[in-house]
Formats: sequence, structure tokens, C-alpha cells
Amino acid sequence: MSEADPATDAATSVHCTRCGAESAPALERAPFPTELGERVLRHTCRDCWQAWRAMAIKIINEYRLSLVDPAHQDALMEQLAIFLKLPGTDAEATNVEVGTPPAP
Ligand SMILES: [Zn+2]
Repeated sequence: MSEADPATDAATSVHCTRCGAESAPALERAPFPTELGERVLRHTCRDCWQAWRAMAIKIINEYRLSLVDPAHQDALMEQLAIFLKLPGTDAEATNVEVGTPPAP
């Protein structure tokens, strides 16, 4: 307890884009070794991450996603970005075919 560092403490809270909390507990590390994982770390509180984990299980079961299938992984990550309201989520960057024809 001799090296308490306020700077380290500050880095453990985030302004969560999903629930709007300005100083909510942050995740300890990025949940994925990707740019998206880094965005989750910077913009999502622990409570909302737990909420996503519960939602992810429902999505995986409901749509029978296989996490060894890259296309399914992409679909899940897209849902994640929407669910967590991550900034920088590009709605046009969808590569999931849902059977809708392109807009005229
Ligand atoms: Zn939150």
C-alpha cells in the first residue's frame, strides 16, 4: 500500500457510451486483441460489458452462431458495437448479408 498512484486510478474509469456514466468502472483490459477490443476498453463500463456478455449468449444461441466461423464472429462483433453504442461504429461497414437488396 505504499505506492498508491492517482494516475493509475483515473485510468480505471471510463465515460461509458452505452449507459452514459461519466466515471464508471472500466474493464481491466481489452476483451479482444483488436482495435474493436481497444474501443470497448475505452468506452464501455464493467456493468455494460456484463450486459453484453449476457446478450451475446442469447444472440449466439438464437442465431446458432459458430464462433469458429469468421463470418459469424464478424456478425457478433457488429452486434457488440451497436449494443455498446461504440463511437466510430460505421454503419456502412457491414459485411453481413441479410437478404435485403441494395438501396437504389
Ligand atoms: Zn455503461
